[in-house]
Amino acid sequence: MKTIDDLNFKGLKAIVRVDFNVPLNDKFEITDETRINAAIPTIKKIIGDGGMAILMSHLGRPKIGPEEKFSLKHLVPALSKKLGVDVKFASDCIGEVPEKMAAELKNGEVLLLENLRFYKEETKGDKDFAKKLSGLADVYVNDAFGTAHRAHASTTIIAQFFPNHKYFGYVMANELANINIVLKESKRPFTAILGGAKVSGKIEIIKNLLDKVDNLIVGGGMMFTFIKAMGGNVGDSLIEDDLIGTAKKALEAAKAKGVNLLIPDDAIIADEFNNDANILECDANDIPDGWMGLDIGENSRETFTEVIKNSATILWNGPMGVFEMENYAQGTKVIAEAVADATDKGAFSLIGGGDSVAAINKYNLAGRVSYVSTGGGAMLELIEGKELPGVKAVEG
Ligand code: AMP
Repeated sequence: MKTIDDLNFKGLKAIVRVDFNVPLNDKFEITDETRINAAIPTIKKIIGDGGMAILMSHLGRPKIGPEEKFSLKHLVPALSKKLGVDVKFASDCIGEVPEKMAAELKNGEVLLLENLRFYKEETKGDKDFAKKLSGLADVYVNDAFGTAHRAHASTTIIAQFFPNHKYFGYVMANELANINIVLKESKRPFTAILGGAKVSGKIEIIKNLLDKVDNLIVGGGMMFTFIKAMGGNVGDSLIEDDLIGTAKKALEAAKAKGVNLLIPDDAIIADEFNNDANILECDANDIPDGWMGLDIGENSRETFTEVIKNSATILWNGPMGVFEMENYAQGTKVIAEAVADATDKGAFSLIGGGDSVAAINKYNLAGRVSYVSTGGGAMLELIEGKELPGVKAVEG
């Protein structure tokens, strides 16, 4: 893997694809700077070497053409402060404006281009558009892991114009290295924990993981499709009838491959989907009509904790229940703590996917797991066993 550590950027202009897709409030103030913070070390390395950084990103989902609320200019003050340099801003990402500003850049300076998605050519992966962007710089750096699964102009297509001058930034390198530890160098026993609402988004992941893991724990709303596939009664719980056959196949495949597939045997059930509903605990395969399972039960929490504590590698994606509501958060909380405890004892743990990251943060455990992945969709595609176009383009 060629990373920016392989190059001294002195006197070079690097066009860097960053992920500055940050949330802004009504006053165009940044409400969460995590993504900007993540890109700072890469930018500092380039300008610290005496190079020039030309930053490009998307922000939000603009329809066609410029829109004030999606302008990257709102990021300039925060970025300048974090970098300790006056970041210049080009009001367009291609054409005369950025061409002139890029030409005038001096060593150690930073130029931020306007939102790439003001041009539909970006998401279409247009070659001419990518070529225009490439003309601004000597070197291409991709540090936007969150969009690495998209074959967009700035994430993938542009790389072909830098056949010998393309590098991964630190965010990319870190994400890939940590996900590789889990997928390619995992120590045994390897336990994957999958939760969240639906089986549909996770079926490819389940298939790929069955060839790798010793234990596969399934919780969250998706457990009920498995329980129904095994002949259980799930009452009014979340269910995907069209995937019952797929769940059956996964159960059979797990058996054939000797994978310990753990489905909860008890559940916290409620008579309404809200925190103030009537609540009971019952067998997960015997839920009465009019009731729905919204969390895993005590017995399952204990069984899963035991398995997690004895694991050497842990991958966790998706909450065990509707953890946003306090009465159905216990399963997710206990699992988060078990993952942290196992990590304290030497296990490698990787947490990824929006809601499991939110859960680990909610319980203040991010510091007690090995790695928290920030690239939801990109990380899930890697776990599905897919090659990411943005990664392939830089490696190829
Ligand atoms: P996902 O985006 O697929 O990871 O799903 C995350 C969502 O799944 C969270 O908002 C949870 O509230 C929801 N969830 C977890 N368990 C259940 C359940 N038993 N029934 C309905 N939704 C659930």
